[in-house]
Amino acid sequence: MNFTKVITIFFLNFCFLVSYSQPVNIPWPDVTDSSDLVDTRSKPIEYQVKQIFRFPEKGICADNMFPGARLNDMIMINDSTLQAQILPENHPVNMSPWYAFRMWSETSQTIYLKLCYKHGQHRYYPKLSSDNKHWIPVDSSNYFSEHGDTSALFRVHLDNDTISISAQENITSDECKRWIDKLSEKQFISKHTIGYSTLKKPLLGLSISESDGKNLLVILSRQHPPEITGYKEMTAFVESISENTRLARKFRKKFETIVVPMMNPDGVDNGFWRHNAGGIDLNRDWRHFYQPETFAFRKYILEKIGKQNAIVCFGIDFHSTQEDIFYYLKKNINPDKENIALKWVNSINQLFPENSFKPEPTGITSQTSRNWFFNEIKAESIIYEVGDNTPRDIINKRGKEAARQLMKILLKDI
Ligand SMILES: [Zn+2]
Repeated sequence: MNFTKVITIFFLNFCFLVSYSQPVNIPWPDVTDSSDLVDTRSKPIEYQVKQIFRFPEKGICADNMFPGARLNDMIMINDSTLQAQILPENHPVNMSPWYAFRMWSETSQTIYLKLCYKHGQHRYYPKLSSDNKHWIPVDSSNYFSEHGDTSALFRVHLDNDTISISAQENITSDECKRWIDKLSEKQFISKHTIGYSTLKKPLLGLSISESDGKNLLVILSRQHPPEITGYKEMTAFVESISENTRLARKFRKKFETIVVPMMNPDGVDNGFWRHNAGGIDLNRDWRHFYQPETFAFRKYILEKIGKQNAIVCFGIDFHSTQEDIFYYLKKNINPDKENIALKWVNSINQLFPENSFKPEPTGITSQTSRNWFFNEIKAESIIYEVGDNTPRDIINKRGKEAARQLMKILLKDI
């Protein structure tokens, strides 16, 4: 290799490092309220110890030897009651204790289970499964806690067959990968590794397109590990865009849809309540990009925009909370045009009056994905929040219909 070539390679690498070195300096409005500013440099976290908890006097065992939500300790507090201790990865942390464990018993017996949380309040109604696919909420006659309680008490029947007990359906990065692999069998869908997480898990992305790649719809989900309902609605949404219908085909000819369905695989597979393996809420890292997950996402989208001379037409970040909410931007990207989010939410709400979304306007200063779309990409986007307890059949139907409504709006608008 000659000297000029070495210098050229060194210079290109230098340019790359300069353009993507941290912290990132994006034009961002001044934050007047300092509570909006969050330091997103990595913090220490605690992992759960994988183990089997044995109670020979009752012939009962419990374990957490699988990926996903957590069980940090289990003790017997009286002859009929076992207490599960669930700890967050670090704190302060959002009150989303994400528990999951398996239990089995030598004899057929009914016991009481008490869920206790350190630094947390009970949020998720317990669900049971014998195959990790079908989950049934604990029968209300066996559940003895009130909304707002700091712990939860319920009764469960145990026998020789292992039963899984979980806060929400325990959907891990492996299951997401299987979903990606299946979808990408379609000839117009390709999968990509857009980067790696803190623990070096691949961050997988999908591109759904039969277009020239000039108009992008960008979708992400699972920044927050336990937010399963948002993830489920995202999968229904993406499947609808991939359907063999006239509308979906027409949409794919004009728009490329980019999907990163699992932004935080480390948090998901380790049962974190909120953060990534850097101990940070990823949805507060969209200003400085200290964490590899947000950093990789930004780099991927910016490169795509540059390479394809594309614009992002709309962005959607799927989450879950206590109710169905659309957090949209108060400020319009283009003041002459109608807000896409409002038009969209109204069309969904007309079709699902019993399970409608509450539109909530927000500002542009917090360090969330939505505000990054606005401030750097100059694109409108929303945080699409699905209720923790929204019925799963509604989530599936509504996610599919929401995609159809947005496809119609974008085809007409752009
Ligand atoms: Zn969230």
